[in-house]
Order: sequence, then structure tokens, then C-alpha cells
Amino acid sequence: MVGVLALQGDFREHKEALRRLGVEAREVRKKEHLQGLQALVVPGGESTTIGKLAREYGIEEEVRKRVAEGSLALFGTCAGAIWLAREILGYPEQPRLGVLDAAVERNAFGRQVESFEEDLEVRGLGPFHGVFIRAPAFRRLGPGVEVLAELGDLPVLVRQGKVLASAFHPELTPDTRLHRFFLDLAGL
Ligand code: GLN
Repeated sequence: MVGVLALQGDFREHKEALRRLGVEAREVRKKEHLQGLQALVVPGGESTTIGKLAREYGIEEEVRKRVAEGSLALFGTCAGAIWLAREILGYPEQPRLGVLDAAVERNAFGRQVESFEEDLEVRGLGPFHGVFIRAPAFRRLGPGVEVLAELGDLPVLVRQGKVLASAFHPELTPDTRLHRFFLDLAGL
């Protein structure tokens, strides 16, 4: 069973992308909702808000435990990806899960460039249309982190074991291949 963290952000779009793959996802709003899940998608939105609520509701601690056990796969997009990271550059106090061995830079493409779209080349999948909205980039990647796509010289899609993180929003395109890739990672 796959869940979508539904505290804030564009979780409905992720549910819809999964539905197009024939998968009905559970909305996760409290830690009890994590029971029995093999995979969790963390949406885009506002990473400070997502982080604060996830900590307050005990979701952060439970997800960290499940990931450490190897029993939960994660896919974070944009703000969701920021929440997964070990370090958030310039925001040391921002609540985060810390399971992805990377530092993220929020708004890495400049605050003045609110959003843009760019065609990416994803390793193993081919061309993929990237929708970027106040997007972060991944930096200082640990040795276990694989870069699956870059924009210029900045990594924008990375994977560490069963943890997948994208700076862009695959849920805002009709293309479900990255969601399918994630379900495969999770063994679903
Ligand atoms: N810049 C936002 C943040 O730092 C993320 C934007 C998004 O998820 N589209 O939380």
C-alpha cells in the first residue's frame, strides 16, 4: 500500500498520478496512517510547514524509524525532497527527516525565477518534462546517493536506496513514469 503525506501541499495531484497507474493511495495525516504502508510520497508545497506539522504529529519520528528498518520507501518532490534531506543550507533549525544523505539548497534557481519548465534526461527513463516551482537543488551528495537527472550542473533527481527525491514536480505533468519507477523501487 502507498500513502501520500497530506499535511500541506499538492498531495491531491500525487494521488491523481497514482490513480492513473491504477493505485489508490492513502492520505497520511497522522502517524497511525503509516501502518501497513510500504511507500510514502511527500508532496511539494512549503517545506517549513510540512516539517513542523510532521514533527508535531509524530510522523517524522515514525517515518525515520520505518526508513531505517528498510520497510518504507520514500518519494519527495520539491518541498518534500527538502524535508528528506540531511541538511538544509541556511536553515539549520528547519525540521527535517534527514534520511537522504544530501544538503539541499532551497530556491536554488533564484527567487526571481519563480517557476520554469525544462526538458530533462532521466537515467533509465529517457526524456522527462521537468516543472520547477521555487525549486531546490541537491548538493554535497553522500557516496550512497545516485544522480538520476541534472539541470546544468545541478542534480535535480537523486536516489539513495529506496529513497527518491526530485527538485521538480512530476505530479504536475500527465507523465506517470517516475511514479511507476517509485512503485517499482518500493516493490509494489
Ligand atoms: N521553495 C519551497 C520550499 O522551500 C518549495 C517549493 C515547492 O514545493 N514547489 O518549501
